[in-house]
Amino acid sequence: MGLPSKRRTKTSKRDRSSHFALKKTSLVKCPKCSKPALPHTACGFCGTYKGRQVLVIKAKDKTVKQRAQERKETTKAKEAKKAEKKSK
Ligand SMILES: [Zn+2]
Repeated sequence: MGLPSKRRTKTSKRDRSSHFALKKTSLVKCPKCSKPALPHTACGFCGTYKGRQVLVIKAKDKTVKQRAQERKETTKAKEAKKAEKKSK
């Protein structure tokens, strides 16, 4: 097993770990929707980059609850179809 050949002093350990701190991510304001976005990256809210539409953003007019309700309805319909097939 590898063992350190010399004891590392408190100071040398602390000196080394002085570079371990995480840096804050820099954010810029999206020119279209003015929401915070990463620089040099397409905006995650409106999907534009340099004034061009580059990402397809799914409709945000629906709330999480509405989407959950839709999912429930579709699964119910599928189950009903399965039940119909079995009864035949
Ligand atoms: Zn945007």
